[in-house]
Amino acid sequence: MTQRLFDIVIAGGGMVGASLALALRTYPGSVAVVDRRFAAERPAPLDVRCTAINEGSRRLFAGLGVWPQLREFAAPIGAIHVSDRGHFGAARLCAEDYALSALGHVVENHRLQEVLGEALAAARNITLVDAAVEDVASAGDDALTVVVDGAPLSARLLAVAAGARGTLAQRLGMQSSERAYAQAAVVTNVVVTRPREGIAYERFTEAGPVALLPLQGARYAVVMTVAETLRDALLGCPDRAFLRRLQDAFGWRLGRFTGCGERGAFSLSLTHASHQVAQRRVLIGNAARTLHPVAGQGFNLALRDVAELAGLLHGERGVQDPGAEMLLQAFAERRRVDQRDTVALTDLLVRAFGNRHLPVVVARNLGLLAMDLVPPLRHWFARRTMGLGPGSPMRRLGGAS
Ligand SMILES: Cc1cc2nc3c(=O)[nH]c(=O)nc-3n(C[C@H](O)[C@H](O)[C@H](O)COP(=O)(O)OP(=O)(O)OC[C@H]3O[C@@H](n4cnc5c(N)ncnc54)[C@H](O)[C@@H]3O)c2cc1C
Repeated sequence: MTQRLFDIVIAGGGMVGASLALALRTYPGSVAVVDRRFAAERPAPLDVRCTAINEGSRRLFAGLGVWPQLREFAAPIGAIHVSDRGHFGAARLCAEDYALSALGHVVENHRLQEVLGEALAAARNITLVDAAVEDVASAGDDALTVVVDGAPLSARLLAVAAGARGTLAQRLGMQSSERAYAQAAVVTNVVVTRPREGIAYERFTEAGPVALLPLQGARYAVVMTVAETLRDALLGCPDRAFLRRLQDAFGWRLGRFTGCGERGAFSLSLTHASHQVAQRRVLIGNAARTLHPVAGQGFNLALRDVAELAGLLHGERGVQDPGAEMLLQAFAERRRVDQRDTVALTDLLVRAFGNRHLPVVVARNLGLLAMDLVPPLRHWFARRTMGLGPGSPMRRLGGAS
């Protein structure tokens, strides 16, 4: 019996794998997305997180035709207020300085996954397979034999978007290094008594950064970073105790926190695959790297990889071998600088704001003041975090609304 052949198999249909598949909806070859989330009778576990989608990512989703659906659930960020608890430094970034209606938008992850899932189900060249990719059995000159729930399947390119927790990348011989931050992010949604429409807050505290991102209504998405050792206590304590703790860390800018939704917690580490591409394989999203959520960059960076990879696969000269070494090497090379700089900027923020030594405290507060008072510095930072910095494939996308 001949094995079923797909041009591209995407292992993992999470936010990144689904986005890549959607970016290939007009690809002239065949595409399969494999994940155990496609059976209607077994819904995927609820992700209680929210994601701040920057302007570059919004443009990508607009180009993929899903922005009108996402906008229904998205809350715009008109300004971002950054402060250092107990110190003088503060900075503010405003959308109007960049002639934009918003710096970014906040969407609940389950909504994002839902919109992407509906668009994928409607795409004619994409096959959704409710299974798991287990391994690669053999690698021929033209294709890989991929083991999917024990059965072989041929793929000319295997894109691994299996997240950070999966072990698939390691099984394929694509190793990662990991540096734990010894911190966990506790996430939930809260209701406040004095919402300030469209303003997002990033407050650095001694325990770690606390982000409040506006949602629709008087709700905010919270990402509260704490020492890993406090993770379980903050997950398990009664709502009132949690809200008191949050109020203490964040202060009273939004009035009183009066209620919160389900809580979730994520251990934080910086992981980095030593090679993002290998023979007919590419890692994408959390399978390639994980970042601290301090600047909301992980998914946005992954989408820039998606845009670049999909652009190369579509090619300028019609159908080509999607697993060709030259194509994969070109992808890795084009993405190298943006990936390196985004990881470095995120890690620098964690280290600088996690440091209690007086010279560092003074330096970082001067840095915040400088960002507030020196427009070119502020603009450089804003364009990077909006996903429109140098090397970003989103710069090539228009501002379609
Ligand atoms: C607290 C927190 C807040 C964040 N906030 C932001 C933010 O505001 N902005 C931002 O840009 N980023 C943010 N991020 C980062 C963002 O959440 C990640 O970049 C994103 O979730 C990565 O998605 P993914 O699809 O790569 O992985 P996942 O979401 O982990 O998806 C992986 C998928 O692969 C499937 N899978 C696993 N193994 C296999 C297999 N063997 N075969 C087939 N399928 C498999 C799983 O079932 C799953 O569906 C945040 C992260 C955290 C922790």
